[in-house]
Amino acid sequence: KRKKQPSAQSLINAIIKGDVTALSRAITLIESTNPKHSKKAETIIKGCLAHTKPSKRIGITGVPGVGKSTFIEAFGTYLTGKGHKIAILAIDPSSSLSKGSILGDKTRMDDLVKDSNAFIRPSASGSSLGGVARKTRESIILCEAAGYDTIIIETIGVGQSETAVHSMVDFFLLLKLAGAGDELQGIKRGIIEMADAIVINKADGDNIKRAKTAKVEFNRALHLYPEKDSGWSPKVKLCSALHKKGIEEVWLMFEDYLSKTKANSYFNTRRLEQQKYWLLQTIEDRLKTDFYNRPEFKKGVKAQLCLIEKGETTPFAAAEYLLGL
Ligand code: GDP
Repeated sequence: KRKKQPSAQSLINAIIKGDVTALSRAITLIESTNPKHSKKAETIIKGCLAHTKPSKRIGITGVPGVGKSTFIEAFGTYLTGKGHKIAILAIDPSSSLSKGSILGDKTRMDDLVKDSNAFIRPSASGSSLGGVARKTRESIILCEAAGYDTIIIETIGVGQSETAVHSMVDFFLLLKLAGAGDELQGIKRGIIEMADAIVINKADGDNIKRAKTAKVEFNRALHLYPEKDSGWSPKVKLCSALHKKGIEEVWLMFEDYLSKTKANSYFNTRRLEQQKYWLLQTIEDRLKTDFYNRPEFKKGVKAQLCLIEKGETTPFAAAEYLLGL
């Protein structure tokens, strides 16, 4: 016999009391592709919206191996030690393909997993980055209603997921490694532009000298960019996540950023802009999915592709025809 599922209202009530099981369950509903679950998830999100408390949202990105898990473990433990309640969510563009996801292997954060003031949720899987990102954004709302005051969103520094993360956090942190003078190579301009801070990790042992050189180079590079709307000039910091060095400095920098952007009201402006972005993004996603799932389209696209192969139509004419269906 199947167990009766808790109602949306009882999940809302439990979430705002800080019940982790209810929070996890509700996030599972958000992630579900079953339309019945989506309805319920929507009710829960709406219910939780009324109970969200002020929070700080920070995005962390960096290539695999840079030390994201190690950093989040050190940073998170430092924060819970200060009495914060932290939630860690992930956006992993590769998880839909490989099914192996960052944070999926929770054992990489031994201490945090056992910490009752930390909530860790691996990346949702899905067929599109937009869909996965939307689920993460909605999960943030539930975490805030459950009383988590600091939300960390992790993503791998490949592909477009940085833009998605940037559009849901207050502060965007790029983790880097010191290379051999090639710091600025292989780093996409767009990511540097998004970063509020570059933190050079593994600044320990033999690496310290190189890390210091890298810091100078990054600082020089950052100065070439125009001033940000936030009025904040991005900072470069060194840290050793492994030895828990430089962790507090990163937090103090974030707090400094918050007080400055709250004072000049950029903080609120940015959050409002993010709401606008998500409104439009959601509409776009929905329109696309609805369109591509229409049976007329599915049938028509095959026929049009055949015609293109035979040289009997052009891609533009075919597109016009399909859009007109
Ligand atoms: P992620 O893939 O970005 O999550 O990276 P991990 O946190 O899994 O770290 C990758 C490897 O780098 C692991 O073997 C870590 O122990 C190591 N590592 C992480 N942070 C540091 C650090 O600050 N110093 C040194 N020396 N090694 C580190």
